[in-house]
Amino acid sequence: MSRWGIDLGGTKIEGVILDDAMQPVVRERLATEQVGGYGHILTQIQRLVDRMSEKSGLPMPERIGIGSPGRTEGADGIVKNSNTVCLNGMPLGRDLEERLGMEVMIENDANCFVLAESTLGAGRDEMSTPGMTAFGIILGTGVGGGIVFDGRLVRGAHGIAGEWGHNPLSGEREPCYCGRNGCVETVISGPALERYYTAVSGRKATLTEIAASSGRDQAARQTIDRLVSSFGRALAAVINILDPDMVIVGGGVGNIRQLYTVEAREAIASNVFNRSFDIPLLPPMLGDSAGVFGAALLAGPPRNSRVG
Ligand SMILES: [Zn+2]
Repeated sequence: MSRWGIDLGGTKIEGVILDDAMQPVVRERLATEQVGGYGHILTQIQRLVDRMSEKSGLPMPERIGIGSPGRTEGADGIVKNSNTVCLNGMPLGRDLEERLGMEVMIENDANCFVLAESTLGAGRDEMSTPGMTAFGIILGTGVGGGIVFDGRLVRGAHGIAGEWGHNPLSGEREPCYCGRNGCVETVISGPALERYYTAVSGRKATLTEIAASSGRDQAARQTIDRLVSSFGRALAAVINILDPDMVIVGGGVGNIRQLYTVEAREAIASNVFNRSFDIPLLPPMLGDSAGVFGAALLAGPPRNSRVG
């Protein structure tokens, strides 16, 4: 069967149809404008689905997967904590099912990322062994995560499984948008690290620039040390609970090479309740495609369990 998926981004939506061999047969994009509001986004999604059907010559599917920023709650798929703010509080799942006339499976972008990377990308070889667990991270503007066990997404009772970005990091106090203080996201997200650098140096720089100058700029060095040590502590907390077989690290901050050094592994190992830390930290392989491929994988055969 073909699998249809749509990834909702801040400025565009993208759709893909994967065939039985998980190869894309159609891939389409449409621009969206936040000022157009919720109704505009629904209309653009419908236009995209129509176009995918036209281009592929395939009839409308019974089910479609949607990757959405933020998270969705309840049977109506009400969006929360999305940076596409016009989606917040809206019953996106129910409204799309009505508009499109098909079953809609919605997951956040981190869950789509880990589903795609563990099935088709970085983890595909190891994850083909039964019973393997992957923890996928998006480390960028925000800090998200998701869990795949035995080829299936683990959603949890409230859809928050894997949300390590809002675990508290000891010793940290900065307020987070979620209403708590000292969340992992307030320390190791890209904007948090850039703010830290500015506070220390009085200068503005992007995280990429900071990472590149850490050999000669003391404030940059301090910022990257903070990233590495905090990442180690935060990830160790997840590893002690989940004990995954691999960690797949995505997002802009995930490209910082200092996260893959011996020192960075030591920062994790020294906080893990085990004598060694020997699992792979894998860079993603699918690039920008992970979100939309993951959305399409959601539209696989239906399953009636919390492990989806
Ligand atoms: Zn938080």
